[in-house]
Amino acid sequence: MALIVQKFGGTSVANPEKIKAVADRVMAVQRQGNRMVVVLSAMAGETNRFVDLAGQMQKLPDPREMDVLLASGEQVTVALCAMAIKEVGSDAVSLLGDQVKIRTDTSHTRARIENIDTELINKYLDEGKIVVVAGFQGVTGRNDITTLGRGGSDTTAVALAAALKADKCEIFTDVEGVYTTDPNIHPSARKIDRISYDEMLELASLGAKVLDIRSVGFAKRYNVPVHVRSSFTDTEGTWVVEEEEEMESMLVSGVTYNKNEARITIAKVPDTPGIASKIFSPISDAEIIVDMIIQNTRAGALTDMTFTVPRTEYDRAMQVVEKIATEVGAERVDGSREIAKVSVVGVGMRNHSGIATTIFQVLAREGINISMISTSEIKVSCVIDEKYTELAVRALHDAFALDKENVTEISHD
Ligand code: ADP
Ligand code: ASP
Ligand code: MG
Repeated sequence: MALIVQKFGGTSVANPEKIKAVADRVMAVQRQGNRMVVVLSAMAGETNRFVDLAGQMQKLPDPREMDVLLASGEQVTVALCAMAIKEVGSDAVSLLGDQVKIRTDTSHTRARIENIDTELINKYLDEGKIVVVAGFQGVTGRNDITTLGRGGSDTTAVALAAALKADKCEIFTDVEGVYTTDPNIHPSARKIDRISYDEMLELASLGAKVLDIRSVGFAKRYNVPVHVRSSFTDTEGTWVVEEEEEMESMLVSGVTYNKNEARITIAKVPDTPGIASKIFSPISDAEIIVDMIIQNTRAGALTDMTFTVPRTEYDRAMQVVEKIATEVGAERVDGSREIAKVSVVGVGMRNHSGIATTIFQVLAREGINISMISTSEIKVSCVIDEKYTELAVRALHDAFALDKENVTEISHD
């Protein structure tokens, strides 16, 4: 008997009809002789609605209370799904994160899973029940409810699959797998049949939100085969697995974008030793994660510092930065939420020059201004105005001919 963990995202449980369809799908797999654990997200749009409601109560909502609120969305779907299964004569039980004992640290709204107790789930599986677990939530050692960060239900599913030593973890979503870029942005995006954990980690870290990055980390660490596929078809999706010899080795594996960051600039800071530390220490003390940083030198002894932070932390970061700016005698602080980071990703880039040049040429041809650049061995990221995201993604995908398999050459026209 195989043990299978299946996770269904928000659009897959968006209304009662879809929840019934999930119940049917899961029961069919159970009837083939499998033990079934189902992980669900909140109905599409619910988590956003809660964030909005919280903002109407408190300007910077209390993180502990935020988690009590956010976790409620998944409570609704697991209960409804268990009911739908029982209605047609099968047996199911819904469980919340604290009932399972998905133990996390205390970082509210972005908690990390530390330990999962499998006893209760195994007991219900032994009784022949379908176990329906609320995604995205856990509990601290002091019994406070936590959530794992947006998109965190993927992580619940893969972490459960690892803890239960499941045979596979299937992630059901609203697209047919992992593509060379977001298929909702570019119709020529190509589905990737098999991708290595490492390559998927890169794509996820740079914005391919089809899989939450921490879920890929768990999958790699515990060697859980992950199958990303559509809730609405039976088509084979994408397998995320250990690197295999026959995997297509692409120069560039994908184009990603991330609209979850914001830019902050502190202008005309005295250019003296220790200034970066003076600026960034209080930001890190506030537990705000800084992604890209650039410093430009001006004439005279002044410099500008520009960096990006998560968009959800923008207000808090601005409060901290304005205080620092006064202390260090900077002229002004400005920032923007309307930015996007577009990245070209591929482990094959390691031994290849000219990728960055092509990217800059493509963006220039489209009249898109680049405000920040960062590169590593396997990616080039550019920060641009958010309104050009789709245009940039399509143009870069076309320039690297990602709609075709086994690309080894790039066009420089
Ligand atoms: P769910 O609610 O099922 O977790 P998400 O919205 O979190 O679904 O993730 C699925 C979405 O990820 C797709 O609808 C698609 O727009 C987006 N996406 C971004 N990049 C990619 C990619 N490279 N391949 C597939 N989907 C992608
Ligand atoms: N409901 C949560 C969110 O919208 C978690 C998830 O769907 O993965 O982010
Ligand atoms: Mg998701």
